[in-house]
Amino acid sequence: MQISYIVWYSVKGYEMAKLGNPKETIEILQKHRFQFKKKFGQNFLIDPHVLDKIVDAAQITGEDFVLEIGPGIGTLTQYLCERARQVLAVEIDKNLIPILQDTLSSYDNVEIVQGDILKQDIRNIADRYNSGKPIKVVANLPYYITTPLIMELFESRVPLASVTVMVQKEVADRMRAEPGSKSCGALSLAVQYYAEPYIAAFVPPNCFIPRPNVGSAVIRLDCRTRMPVEVRDERLMFRLIRAAFNQRRKTLQNAVANSRELPFSKEEAADAIDRLGFGINVRGEKLGLPEFARLADELADKYMETDAKGLGSYE
Ligand code: SAM
Repeated sequence: MQISYIVWYSVKGYEMAKLGNPKETIEILQKHRFQFKKKFGQNFLIDPHVLDKIVDAAQITGEDFVLEIGPGIGTLTQYLCERARQVLAVEIDKNLIPILQDTLSSYDNVEIVQGDILKQDIRNIADRYNSGKPIKVVANLPYYITTPLIMELFESRVPLASVTVMVQKEVADRMRAEPGSKSCGALSLAVQYYAEPYIAAFVPPNCFIPRPNVGSAVIRLDCRTRMPVEVRDERLMFRLIRAAFNQRRKTLQNAVANSRELPFSKEEAADAIDRLGFGINVRGEKLGLPEFARLADELADKYMETDAKGLGSYE
């Protein structure tokens, strides 16, 4: 969706954050007769310490433009408005818009957009609000969009300084997992290629209303200006990574040959793996970014001869 199709809501004024404790949150929810929607991953924060930790971790200054994803009733948004130059908050649930207009009415540095973040042109937002300079993204994310959103931000090369997000604890662990470890997956390597992950806090379920079934963590991804490995074809490298981890019990040569995203035969995969000296029966889960970059370079010429389609998905 282009930015011009979006409905923009402006709110004005300025005052101290009021939300962030159970009493105020319940009062607002009751005043507007709000019903939670499970499908939108609505778990609202009700702990001021956690809110402080998120904005501290995000290292927001008065110069910053912040994109917030899923403002809910505006709790984290209030904290962001007090630190940032400007905040743009994108919320999918139409029923939350009148609530946000109420809770953010005192701030003149925030705009609310009603829409699905996965359909927004975020590069356009960075151009429009931050003159194309790297933006900071902050969110208590609805867990169902964590991986697609983070990969979209990175792969579409949105100019990013950092992404500070509340995610499921297990996903935070995966993002910073060491290559070769049990919890390392395609998401780990992708995140570590584009950013340096830093866990700022672990957050128990009782800090939210309603309580989620799992523990959460605040993770900051500091976006790299220089990638940790050089590779001729980034897209090919990530297809190889996805192939390897989507079938992690298989040998790398079988996983590559079986992948619908890749055009290589078992012999071509086996030859390349052998030439690189990884061992013919190696599993992809044992390799890190430098090895996947070498494998991608080894297969790049053959790959360029074909027209592989489809983007695939991350674990
Ligand atoms: N930021 C608030 C807080 O911390 O209390 C709410 C966080 S809640 C976990 C996630 C929010 O994201 C909800 O308000 C939900 O409606 C919104 N949301 C869910 N899917 C979305 C999407 N695709 N695009 C934008 N917002 C979304």
